[in-house]
Amino acid sequence: MAGADLATRIREEVQREAEELGGACLATILVGDDPASHIYIDRKHAAANEVGIATRDVRLPSSASQEEVLALVEELNEDDGVDGMLVQLPLPEHMNETLITHAVDPVKDVDGFHPVNAGNLYLGTPLHIPATAWGCMELLAEYGVEVKGADAVVIGRSEIVGKPMAMLLLAAHATVTICHSRTRDLGEHTGRADIVVAAVGRPWLVTPDMIKPGAAVVDVGINRTEEGLRGDVDPAVAEVAGAMTPVPGGVGPMTIALLLRSTLKAARYRRGLLAFRGH
Ligand code: NAD
Repeated sequence: MAGADLATRIREEVQREAEELGGACLATILVGDDPASHIYIDRKHAAANEVGIATRDVRLPSSASQEEVLALVEELNEDDGVDGMLVQLPLPEHMNETLITHAVDPVKDVDGFHPVNAGNLYLGTPLHIPATAWGCMELLAEYGVEVKGADAVVIGRSEIVGKPMAMLLLAAHATVTICHSRTRDLGEHTGRADIVVAAVGRPWLVTPDMIKPGAAVVDVGINRTEEGLRGDVDPAVAEVAGAMTPVPGGVGPMTIALLLRSTLKAARYRRGLLAFRGH
């Protein structure tokens, strides 16, 4: 289940809609000098600009105070020219990530991390959906994986990927099991699943003996090892699985595409063009 073509189609759709709308604007806040975060932010800006979404790129040194970041979030919340906003994680150690991500206006919170958005996802009335989990659902749909009634196992329970993934699968009528670091026998759960989503951060944790023949396997993991980039799923699983996302080239390209779609959603909502049940 490759993601590049689908991601391109989503970007093209966003580009058409952004043009119809007369543009949209995404603001990002990056604090500190984490090299991976700088690469991610550069990519988000390039992708947004490519589809006609304007961007504001605010970068602060790691010596910045939490109050400065909160004041900046508040300023962008109030700024009528900004439709969507995200604070790139991780933040420096002396900052409270929860406090800062929860300060973002829920309507502008394109990452979907604010409790209002998390709560609406839980209630089945989402506005903003965390992009990676949304991307996984889009991939399953694209490749015709039947989610309704399926036994789905999500490995990982983070707020960013695991939990929203489980909520989306549940909303799509799967029977969902969430596994995590304290799960007693991971293979016993995955071995029964029709769909396995691995969002762990452990290279090649999922091995062929843990997968039911024919199952669909979505690998969210991005692990930089001395041997190169590795997912959470051993590539040999492809011999057992009915369908599987590669790393790289699977979920990765989807995440930015869905972030762009979320920005457009924020812009349409702010212009009164999007009916939304959850507010
Ligand atoms: P996280 O560290 O916040 O959460 C990891 C989860 O895995 C935890 O809930 C933990 O309980 C669980 N876990 C850890 N060890 C386990 C084990 N041995 N067995 C079962 N569960 C175990 O990580 P995250 O932010 O959710 O990210 C997970 C992975 O997805 C990382 O590799 C990250 O780089 C990747 N990621 C990719 C994208 C993308 O765009 N493709 C986006 C976000 C995250």
